[in-house]
Amino acid sequence: MSQQGYVAAPPYSQSQPGIGGFGSPNSSLHYGHYGDPNSSYSAPQPGVSKSTVPFGSSAPVGPPPPGAHQFSQTNFQNGPGTPGQQPHRFQGPPPPSNTGASYPPYSPQSQPAFPNAAPASSTAQLADQLNSMQINNYGPGPTPSPGHPASFQSPRLPPPPTQQQMVLPPGPQVPPPPPTGSVNGLCAQPALPPMARQGGIPGPVPPNPNLQQLPGQPPGPGYHPQQANYGPQMAGSQLSYPGAFPGGPAQLSGPQQKKLDPNSIPSPIQVIESDKAARGGQVYATNTRGQVPPLVTTDCIIQDQGHASPRYIRCTTYCFPLTSDMAKQTRIPLAAVIQPFANVPPNETPLYLVNHGETGPIRCNRCKAYMCPFMQFIEGGRRYQCGFCNCINDVPSFFFQHLDHMGRRIDHYERPELSLGSYEYVATLDYCRDKKPPNPPAYIFMIDVSYRNIKSGLVKLICDELKTLLDKLPREEQEESSAIRVGFVTYNKVLHFFNVKSSLAQPQMMVVTDVSEVFVPLLDGFLVDFEESRSVITNLLDQIPELFADTNESETIFAPVIQAGMEALKAAERAGKLFIFHSSLPTAEAPGKLKNRDDKKLLNTDKEKMLFQPQGNCYEALARDCVANGCCVNLFLFPNQYVDVASVGLVTMYTGGTLYKYNNFQLDGDSPQFLSDLRRDMEKKMGFDATMRVRTSTGFRATEFLGAIYMNNTTDVEMAAVDCDKAVTVEFKHDDKLNEDTGALIQCALLYTTVSGQRRIRIHNIGLNCSAQLADVYRTCETDALINFFAKSAFKAILSQPLKTVRDILVNQTAHMLACYKKNCASPATVSQLILPDTMKVLPVYMNCLLKSCVLVGRAEIPTDERAFHRQLVMAMGVADTQLFFYPRLLPIHSLDLKSDAVPAAVRCSEERLSEGGAFLLANGLSMFLWLGASVSPELIQGLFNVPSFAHISTDATSLPDLDNPFSKKLKHILEQLQSQKPHTMKLIIVKQREQPEMLFRQFLVEDKSIYGGASYVDFLICIHKEISQLLS
Ligand SMILES: [Zn+2]
Repeated sequence: MSQQGYVAAPPYSQSQPGIGGFGSPNSSLHYGHYGDPNSSYSAPQPGVSKSTVPFGSSAPVGPPPPGAHQFSQTNFQNGPGTPGQQPHRFQGPPPPSNTGASYPPYSPQSQPAFPNAAPASSTAQLADQLNSMQINNYGPGPTPSPGHPASFQSPRLPPPPTQQQMVLPPGPQVPPPPPTGSVNGLCAQPALPPMARQGGIPGPVPPNPNLQQLPGQPPGPGYHPQQANYGPQMAGSQLSYPGAFPGGPAQLSGPQQKKLDPNSIPSPIQVIESDKAARGGQVYATNTRGQVPPLVTTDCIIQDQGHASPRYIRCTTYCFPLTSDMAKQTRIPLAAVIQPFANVPPNETPLYLVNHGETGPIRCNRCKAYMCPFMQFIEGGRRYQCGFCNCINDVPSFFFQHLDHMGRRIDHYERPELSLGSYEYVATLDYCRDKKPPNPPAYIFMIDVSYRNIKSGLVKLICDELKTLLDKLPREEQEESSAIRVGFVTYNKVLHFFNVKSSLAQPQMMVVTDVSEVFVPLLDGFLVDFEESRSVITNLLDQIPELFADTNESETIFAPVIQAGMEALKAAERAGKLFIFHSSLPTAEAPGKLKNRDDKKLLNTDKEKMLFQPQGNCYEALARDCVANGCCVNLFLFPNQYVDVASVGLVTMYTGGTLYKYNNFQLDGDSPQFLSDLRRDMEKKMGFDATMRVRTSTGFRATEFLGAIYMNNTTDVEMAAVDCDKAVTVEFKHDDKLNEDTGALIQCALLYTTVSGQRRIRIHNIGLNCSAQLADVYRTCETDALINFFAKSAFKAILSQPLKTVRDILVNQTAHMLACYKKNCASPATVSQLILPDTMKVLPVYMNCLLKSCVLVGRAEIPTDERAFHRQLVMAMGVADTQLFFYPRLLPIHSLDLKSDAVPAAVRCSEERLSEGGAFLLANGLSMFLWLGASVSPELIQGLFNVPSFAHISTDATSLPDLDNPFSKKLKHILEQLQSQKPHTMKLIIVKQREQPEMLFRQFLVEDKSIYGGASYVDFLICIHKEISQLLS
């Protein structure tokens, strides 16, 4: 195939700004040296006590008191008390799954409109054909809900596969498009004015040398069952994914051609809304192995009845292929996305706590799996067979119980570890470092007090906020106050530690000037209880901005800051979290000193990967030390130019921390976003000093772990900390044949320390089916989880491979998965058509969004730091976050139903969906836009902004005024809904149609051709169709 069929004009004639707002030359505070390098504060170096005497009172040890929401074993035996949480007799699938399978929206009747190989003579003809298909209409029409889970319940009957069928001419018969011009109409935005030359967009990328050989090229080795594992370069799989080759001016002048009917291609919105309609608001009980949960975008109430809630674990498919050969044939990655600390809504039961006292958790003697519903009791209850390794184990006498006539223990429903998918164990000293109960964690606040942060008011803002925020440190629900200790450090080229011991009248500062080998100058009085030291701490926070008010120090260190925090935690024998507030590239002479190595010339070369790798080894070594000492690093960055996120953010990523970035931070406009992030982060429930282990039943095993994690060996996932937003994506491979009867069982065990210093083990179990039928595998796929997997594996791969190779592999694998389906599961009559399994209907559109994400498509306009930032965020994301990130929510708000509380249904992310008279809200979890059409009604403008007309609206505002009218209130409510449960606070950007900032907004219209050189959805679909046809020819 030829890539030229997919290049088209950027639809904009304006020049565009970089998306991050970097590089603006007007910054008044350029990075550099200011004045005397000597610090103006010369607090004498105090005598340093290296005493190892532990300070502070240690935490209460021993078994934790029963929590308000947690049920110890004893509580549990009192019988089912709390409605809804006691598992009931398994009555079969919940009602929502039983309401008839009805999914023939794409019935075979609709296929033969374009029988085999009507050779398309032009892309216009393609457009005609697509238009005439009329499949997959969006809207409340008669279309039955597709992909209904009920269908998955009927065992072993291979029903006719549900699928999306589209008639497209077979790939190889599509003639290579003419070199320029004439195909552009396919991608051009008809609503736009004629193309002019684009200002800031660089010229065309040199033609791909592989281009010529591609049309009609036989499938290369990449097409054969070899797994796309980002291994060595895949010679022969040179797919020319269009996104990599943005069109140049030569293509701009093509005649506008017939507009495609977007309703003719599968719609993510329809898929999302159908699932909401079918399963939203209902109870989903996890009582069946291999059951496919509602989509991550559907709100429902989840009831744990033996398998972990989809809030904790989602899988790429809920039915594994029986054999390795089948798995290779489908190329569907077998993966689970595990979010061990996911938030559960108040109407769902929190995890039960199981306490076996000094005995500790019951585990299989051979594989060490924890007691769970997959253990089979035998011999009258005296022994049990492990569901993972089949080993027969004795039941400890204290745990013995008789079996009922079904062979089930009579206390089955009284013990979480026998009947639930998820629960926690109290860990014994064997699970603690040095067999000592851990101390409660500590939070250390480390503030960059260099010139710019003082002058911008940031330091004062942070200090003022901490005064109230420290009252909100996380605590156990039954506790009155938090057990977490706090400490304070400021820094520029040197480090300042503060003694805030409660007995002091004034805080004391100790300066560490030797940053080459950081030591902690004080132990006693550094990490304190906030309640006890409140007055000294308040005093300190009042003083810090004044203390450095006259600073002229602009150079900063960075690695020694992390080192200092980590050493302090280590000395105090505590796990904990650093909150680092940092602004600039650390150029001061110290370990981890960085150069500005940003180089746009590396874009689209084999060396582009270097931009994502850290400078030197310092930060990786530091990350390893931090993980080993349970030190999680949270980084709040306030850059106004390149700060090398790939280097400074590395420790954050490896330690389970969160990176926040506020480009060109302005106190007025950006404070709310930053403070909201800080508050949420501070209050987060999380686990510290964690190790995760994933066990599987025989025949397969976990082979790859993707996330903000650190691996010391091939099995243990080390996390300095893990919070509610972080997810680890685990890939599995066969090492033997699976068993259809026993299924594929997965147990994730996470050992961690709670916010109060208790050591616990959190267990999540899930059972999947296995089948020798490929159709079963496809029917239980989850595209949202697939995209999460592909995104993380691709974003990991770009560290070691050229981006083009990574993109090619993604395209290749997509085509392969779909080709395998077509070949094995679809009717032979569909030979010329694009056939998509129902569960993968929107895989192409989501995959295209991933392929053209700024991480995978380098353009000079996109700051390198922004790409590294996105890469790092995605590596830690769960399924809900990746879904929203790659396919943003676009909500029409000009036609709100003011009586309803609901968020309006989204529309597809395409310019087609906008209207001059409309107003739209767009959110992707990181950014939020309010787009206003040029002729939006004055009433709406008045209601929202309290100004008389479009022209009066200021786009400088980052929030909407609080107005006392139903419309304004409704919109505020929607904004809150969009923001809830999102790890990052989205700053609102107001965009007026046809004004410059609209460029920023348009890149989120992901179904359209991207201004940064990604294909439109339609083009990508045609590309994939051709790939599939080639694979099958
Ligand atoms: Zn075992």
